[in-house]
Amino acid sequence: MPHRFTARAVVVGDRAGTVIPDAVIDVDGGRIRWVGPAAEAPPAEGAEVVELSGVLMPGLVNTHSHAPMVLFRGQGEGLPLDRWLQEVMWPREARLTAEDVEVAMTAASAEMLGNGVTTSVEMYFHPDRIAAAVGTTGARAIIVSPLIPLPGMPPFEKQLRAAVDLATGAPEDGMVEFGIGPHAAYTVPLPVLREAAVAAREHALLLHLHVAETATEGADLLALHGLSVPALLAAHDVLGGRVLAAHCVHMDDADLDLWHEYDVAVAHCPASNAKLASGIAPLRAMLDRGIRVGMGTDGPASNDGLDLLADLRLAASFARLAGRSATALTAAEAIWLATGAAAEAVGRPDLGQLEAGRRADLVHVDTRNLVFEPVGDASDVLAHLVWSGAGQHVRDVWVGGRQLVRDFTSTTVDTEALRSDVAARAARLAAR
Ligand SMILES: [Zn+2]
Repeated sequence: MPHRFTARAVVVGDRAGTVIPDAVIDVDGGRIRWVGPAAEAPPAEGAEVVELSGVLMPGLVNTHSHAPMVLFRGQGEGLPLDRWLQEVMWPREARLTAEDVEVAMTAASAEMLGNGVTTSVEMYFHPDRIAAAVGTTGARAIIVSPLIPLPGMPPFEKQLRAAVDLATGAPEDGMVEFGIGPHAAYTVPLPVLREAAVAAREHALLLHLHVAETATEGADLLALHGLSVPALLAAHDVLGGRVLAAHCVHMDDADLDLWHEYDVAVAHCPASNAKLASGIAPLRAMLDRGIRVGMGTDGPASNDGLDLLADLRLAASFARLAGRSATALTAAEAIWLATGAAAEAVGRPDLGQLEAGRRADLVHVDTRNLVFEPVGDASDVLAHLVWSGAGQHVRDVWVGGRQLVRDFTSTTVDTEALRSDVAARAARLAAR
């Protein structure tokens, strides 16, 4: 049945930061049919009218996540990275079951939906169970099968074959799509990266990997090959097609030029980069070059929230601090980085903006709150969303026109039961 949404304002999610006051969105068949000022709306003709007192914005697109790691949230706090991995993460992950991943992803997906995140790029073990989890919550996901050399994982050729089989066998309904997720150039051999890239290009899959997250991770490769990681990836035919690189903190001008040349997209994860003291990514330089960038939370063991809206404040703050300029990233650009730009970064032009023809992924932010006042100009809404907004202000969420959050509550899963299930599993995984 067609629906007509009316709202105090619609935030389109485009680069210009368009805000339409007193707006209407018509939805039918899971797609947006019309967006504009109420005064200009076509006749409603049998549509069910949904009157919203707040602001409608596009469902947020989280471009980099390992959401099942809600099982490890806050664990090993304060340890240096190597000890955190060796003493906290790897022993737990060695005990992880497929069911743990599905339960954790279901809980994390409900949490993300509650924060207005309707699509996430997930890189984690048991990709089929991650798909089952979002099938339960109703969220969208781009799930990249990890390629990583860990004890218990099959050899790379088998991992890659399984990744391609999973991706090419999935239905093309826009809900779940699979890609390939070689962990990084310092963990996965270059010939494997190249094979993964060739397979991704052949099947038009997303190739997602970590690049230049820390200052030192590329040192061995540089010593061995005399090239930075981006240059090495270019030289080994890894770039081209739908490539999404997470972090990209330690990139020089030549690296950024390569990203532009090969149209590599970046998942910008300021909260994780701050928590792990990785550094500040050159966001302004990326955007000025025309590099596609979208916001990511990274995993909840290194953020620790799955609150993309809250992370926008960090993105804007770091860009301004790094550029020593209050104009280095505008509120409009920040919102775009989690909506329209993020959809572009993951290669999904059907998502990310409230525009006729795109999928009806809608987030209703409850603006009956002092942090959303005053609104003198319509664009003040953008400033409030970035500087004061957070997932807690998200009241209702629709994905493909289906309501998944109503009055701050999931319509598809029992979040309280999931919370206690995750807690019990986390305790079991932590036991020595
Ligand atoms: Zn990551």
